[in-house]
Amino acid sequence: MTAAKGSSPAMNPRADFDAIVVGAGFAGMYMLHRLRGLGLKTRVIEAGQDVGGTWYWNRYPGARCDGESMFYSYSFSDALQQEWTWTERYAAQPEILAYARHVADRFDLRRDIAFDTRVTAATFDENQRLWRVTTHRGEVLTAPFCIMGTGNLSTTNLPEIDGLATFRGATYHTGTWPHHEVDFASRRVGVIGTGSSAIQAIPMIARSAAHLTVFQRTANYAVPAWNHPLTAEEVAEVKAHYAELREKQRWTFSHNMFEPAARSALEVSEAERQAEYERRWREGGLGFTSAFTDIQYSDAANQTAADFVRAKIRAVVKDPATAELLCPKIIIGCKRLCVDTGYFETYNRDNVSLVDVSSTPITRIAPEGPVIGETIHAVDALVFATGFDAMTGTLLAIDITTSEGNSLRDKWRDGPTCYLGLAMAGLPNLFIITGPGSPSVFTNMIPTIEHHVDFIADAIADMRRSGRTRIEVDGAAESAWVQHVADLAEPSLRPSCNSWYVGANIPGKPRVFMPYMGGVPAYRRHCIEVVENGYRGFNLS
Ligand code: NAP
Repeated sequence: MTAAKGSSPAMNPRADFDAIVVGAGFAGMYMLHRLRGLGLKTRVIEAGQDVGGTWYWNRYPGARCDGESMFYSYSFSDALQQEWTWTERYAAQPEILAYARHVADRFDLRRDIAFDTRVTAATFDENQRLWRVTTHRGEVLTAPFCIMGTGNLSTTNLPEIDGLATFRGATYHTGTWPHHEVDFASRRVGVIGTGSSAIQAIPMIARSAAHLTVFQRTANYAVPAWNHPLTAEEVAEVKAHYAELREKQRWTFSHNMFEPAARSALEVSEAERQAEYERRWREGGLGFTSAFTDIQYSDAANQTAADFVRAKIRAVVKDPATAELLCPKIIIGCKRLCVDTGYFETYNRDNVSLVDVSSTPITRIAPEGPVIGETIHAVDALVFATGFDAMTGTLLAIDITTSEGNSLRDKWRDGPTCYLGLAMAGLPNLFIITGPGSPSVFTNMIPTIEHHVDFIADAIADMRRSGRTRIEVDGAAESAWVQHVADLAEPSLRPSCNSWYVGANIPGKPRVFMPYMGGVPAYRRHCIEVVENGYRGFNLS
């Protein structure tokens, strides 16, 4: 049964709604759909003016998904996946946003979403057993359940550089790109950063700008996308077998259809190793680092993959000094691997220059542009491709507390703690979709979101059936899970560099490796066992 507008909440008659969901990206939209299906009165609150989350905000030139479109999409409705036709191997941002909008229309989601509204605080009232959720408009909405679909990469990181306010030109951040066309023709543009966003934006900006200066602090690895239009036959083939392909996808390591590694990079001959890297390189995309089992665990194995990519960079970039600057020195896969289209080739253009800011940082921004050492790099526009306060920034921007005096900001002072990346001790009836401690950012997000949303919706449905109204994580279960997440990361090379996975990109952020590295199948099995054992690790009353 679908809850009609204005109907009464089913679970707590004192509340305005049964559930409040924060965010109308792919997480919030599917959460709304599932809760509606349970007959629960749900309100989604969204800061943007439309659905789409990440794909609403990140509309910089070249923005495109690194996950293959036929599998970076919802699987919950076969009718939906049959009727929607992706046009490219990797969908560009406008197409993904169009898909999100289509889903919102098709399932009539918008009538339960409040757009242009930011949640500022949420407090759990123990006596009434409900969350009071406050918005920037001053409204207070109540519901027994509050579900955060706020995303992992949704609060932008704008570095505090002296003099930025004095800059005479236009400034942009890739994560909050304007909705109107930005024309860089005949302008000198500076891009700060060389992560995934920058690596997509730089080739596009270089085509239109008079001159592009890239300020690079850490050179990054990128594997070619080899993006191409999907043929009608390719689409039809996947659609004909979607049911079994989706089931296969659910049990892959990262919800991606990569061929899993079978061997160590060190147990094969040099020729076999090179052939395997070459084969993966030609396939393109993030599956490159799945070539061997130990790339993320053995320094020597990692070096073989890193050397392969560095040789590719040297073969493409004509100026040897620029090529050396672009060759990453860090562990491959330590920071998120990038997927590119013509990124390294861009440095062969006459209108592109690369400035190394690793040893001498950008000390200040003068009215004319960034200052490095004694040199002012004059630009007309500055693009910050400087990333996000990942995984925790958006949740900590909301003042989340309880009437018993618990607070998320206090709880996470030394780093995030969360059970299964789904819920937390001390904060009853609050769920996070893909929170810290879940496989989240190591996976294809849409199927991961579907898994979490189903877990949460099923838990609420089970509570309703059994007449229980309060669910809270047990402190010991949470601590054990946090330890398990840390133990999984410890033997890997990943925690060793200054990535956003450990919060190192944000000054003062506690250094904690946040995502779960054990892979989707192990995580799914944990979740199944939790439910089969009466929600082990949760206290229900
Ligand atoms: P990011 O990976 O955090 O990269 C930020 C870049 O800005 C880094 O190169 C960083 O250098 C640089 N930077 C930050 N502060 C700086 C400063 N003060 N001076 C100079 N350089 C500075 O951010 P992102 O590129 O937006 O990507 C974030 C994540 O979003 C990705 O890892 C990925 O998970 C996701 N994403 C996915 C796609 C896709 O699917 N196609 C596209 C974009 C983003 P350091 O490395 O030295 O810190």
